[in-house]
Amino acid sequence: MSHIKQQTIASQFTLEGVGIHSGYTSRLTVKPASKGGIRFKRMDIDGNPEFPAHLDFVQETDRGTNLGVGEVRIMTIEHIMSSLIASEVDHVLIELSGNEIPILDGSFQPFCRAITAVGLRQLSSDVEVMHITRNLRIECDSGASYRVSPCSNLQISAQIEFTHSAIGRQSGVFEINPNTFGSEIAAARTFGFESDVEYLKARGLARGASLENAIVLDDTGVINGPLRFKDEFLRHKVGDLLGDLALIGKRIRASIICEKPGHEGNIKMARFLRDKVKSND
Ligand SMILES: [Zn+2]
Repeated sequence: MSHIKQQTIASQFTLEGVGIHSGYTSRLTVKPASKGGIRFKRMDIDGNPEFPAHLDFVQETDRGTNLGVGEVRIMTIEHIMSSLIASEVDHVLIELSGNEIPILDGSFQPFCRAITAVGLRQLSSDVEVMHITRNLRIECDSGASYRVSPCSNLQISAQIEFTHSAIGRQSGVFEINPNTFGSEIAAARTFGFESDVEYLKARGLARGASLENAIVLDDTGVINGPLRFKDEFLRHKVGDLLGDLALIGKRIRASIICEKPGHEGNIKMARFLRDKVKSND
């Protein structure tokens, strides 16, 4: 691989907002770092526990990806992770005054815009790239499947299928780089079904969800349109997949073809890839 240098952000930025599941407001400050990858730090807990954004720290994948160590959690990390890896940021410290990354408008865009606004700073070390050397296939009980093959860049081809008529079957191929992510993926918002809300709230989820931070569907269609893309649901799922893949901790060059991707399957695939690379296969 050529000598592309690692990057961090040029200066810090702060965002504040409600967590889509917890319903609590928290403030996050993203700070430049020259090593350690992407790390999270809880500022509201004694001793300020800190851990890396890494697959080994994934605790739950139900309706979002939650990281943690011991009893400490940081929920819904996928949108900021996706925005950082798509912007080619290798090292930052994310300080959070709460247990969940703010959902903001439900998309990746507020994070991407904040990163673009402060700019990037090049570091002296070369980037670490995960190379895929042969075709791999991962199947999950959830119905998700992934085919990964060698590629000189990162390309995600995805297909989703929902019985709801406003979503149906959607598929597309997306090249992932800072420009294409910004124009084709970043604005795509998370989505949910009105009929699931009570059930989710009873389980401690979706307590901060609103018409301002998610596309909401009732039995007949989208309540709070218009959509930002005709296939906004698919594009959001591609962004989520990238955020989960970012937990490998390296830049990834691969072609990924996935059907019905979800957090559980994404993490399973990311672990599979990490293990394959560890064993040098
Ligand atoms: Zn999402």
